[in-house]
Amino acid sequence: MNIFIMGAPGSGKGTFSSRIKEEFDLNHISTGDIFRANIAGGTELGMQAKAYTEKGLLVPDEITNNMVKEYLSQLSDKKNGYLLDGYPRTLDQAKAFEKMTEGTDLMVDEIVVMDVPFDELTRRITGRRSCKHCGEIYNIYSKPPVKEGICDKCGSELSQRKDDNEESLKTRLEEYAKNTEPVIAYYEEKGMVKRIDATAGIEEIWPVLKEALSK
Ligand SMILES: [Zn+2]
Repeated sequence: MNIFIMGAPGSGKGTFSSRIKEEFDLNHISTGDIFRANIAGGTELGMQAKAYTEKGLLVPDEITNNMVKEYLSQLSDKKNGYLLDGYPRTLDQAKAFEKMTEGTDLMVDEIVVMDVPFDELTRRITGRRSCKHCGEIYNIYSKPPVKEGICDKCGSELSQRKDDNEESLKTRLEEYAKNTEPVIAYYEEKGMVKRIDATAGIEEIWPVLKEALSK
């Protein structure tokens, strides 16, 4: 089973990815991992990508696509397939990947979309606070500390990540709407998308997601 997992920032994609990976014994890979592996390994594609990022430029789709395909085809333990996170980011990437993998065991089978309404994403992201001292994470709406701004566990001051504000979230969501939603629509037309309502808590969502992927 080869899966792409998609979802806006704050949709819980990361958490569910680890559970899917464990449950179905898949290789879980993010495009970030693939970039790092190629750059660290000094591959030709890695060097090309590095040249772009060092100039502050976006890595062209063609390099990204080839890197993803090569990485997946060279996995020493193919397990039961892959779960890819953070790819494809654009419609062009989706179409190119489809062409590159057609007829091979790398073709994607399912697209999982973690759906969360906009106002809930906003609460999750802008409400997030963390303790720099012990790493505990809070949310002022859903999991507030007993004393405002203070960590329950160690008494240190809580802080908010710089880009966890409404303005920055808006930019990230706009980028998601512009680039990722067309990708989802493309796969939806092919009947490959499983949309999961990810508004509730992890323990309520997980059985639904597991069941959807078991079919
Ligand atoms: Zn703490």
